[in-house]
Amino acid sequence: MRISASLTRVIGLANVAVVTTAVIGLGLMPSDGAPHVRPDLTGNAGASLEGVTKPTQAPQDAGQPPGVVATPEFARQIHANELGLVPILMYHRIVPKRLASIDRTPDQLRKELEKLARQGYVPITAREFATGQIQVPAGKSPVVLTFDDGHPSHFGLDSAGNPKPDTAVSIIMDVSRRYPGFRPVATFWVNRAPFGLEDTASQKAAVSWLTGHGFEVANHTWAHPDLRALPKKKVREQITRLERLLVKLGVGPSKTLALPYGSMPRARKIAIKGNWDGTRYDFAGVFLAGAEPSLSPYAKKFDRLAIQRIQSNGKKGECRKWCSQYWLEWLNKHPGERYVSDGDPERISIPRRLRGNIDPKRRPQVNAY
Ligand SMILES: [Zn+2]
Repeated sequence: MRISASLTRVIGLANVAVVTTAVIGLGLMPSDGAPHVRPDLTGNAGASLEGVTKPTQAPQDAGQPPGVVATPEFARQIHANELGLVPILMYHRIVPKRLASIDRTPDQLRKELEKLARQGYVPITAREFATGQIQVPAGKSPVVLTFDDGHPSHFGLDSAGNPKPDTAVSIIMDVSRRYPGFRPVATFWVNRAPFGLEDTASQKAAVSWLTGHGFEVANHTWAHPDLRALPKKKVREQITRLERLLVKLGVGPSKTLALPYGSMPRARKIAIKGNWDGTRYDFAGVFLAGAEPSLSPYAKKFDRLAIQRIQSNGKKGECRKWCSQYWLEWLNKHPGERYVSDGDPERISIPRRLRGNIDPKRRPQVNAY
């Protein structure tokens, strides 16, 4: 277990969280179904401190929910904790017949997403997470759905231009229709032939459909090598070649990278920023392959060069611990450890006892209670 000592210390305090009061906050929320409103970033936060929440009303771009202005009292009522842990789930192939332990069936994916929806999770992209743009409604928790290797089972368009049935995208959209608060977004980390597509026209159609619907398509290197085994220049080449492809397809440059096999280059820094043959890359976050929930991006100890993920799986064998079923149950048993949003995109609401854990750059945004 690689959970930090400070985290372990607060586990004991988790029991104080009382889930029922979250309902008070949720009752005050603007509806999930009004996604085209964004908080007024220049707004009169001071004036609105008296109110518990205040829906704001300017146009919004990323399909994220409207913001509210959180007061300390409101944050306390809903047990907001924006220094809590965030599950970043890692999926590989979604196939009816599992050939490897990391494969999931369409049914397993659907059930896991429905469980997340019922447990108050709202998807955000890896990019939104890494850049700290976490806008989920008050009382809800962010989850990041990530799919590696650009497999055809993740996405494809049928002849009518809709996502093919039983692909990851089609399942995510289905679940979102049944659970309207479950925002249908995910991150796809692809290699040289995204979703198994070889020709530029169909690659372009696929990735632009995805990004046009709020999904993220980002960098998983050109040929999926073990970056630790490569010299620096080859590492930069592998990353840059894929960046060039994404730019050519109209969806680059990427803001996130997932390391193939979770394997870090020996010179860690070249995973996040560098250049090759005159092309630069500069990511907001580099993602590993396992095996625990991530710290909040607002935490002092958050390492954007090595962001933790959780493999989607049951609790057998190696997954007795460290895979999604284990961790989602753990987070349910430890509600005080989970990231709970205040619904306010400008403020970072946290219990007073956690003030020392905030990234110093984020201190001006803190709303402690
Ligand atoms: Zn991979």
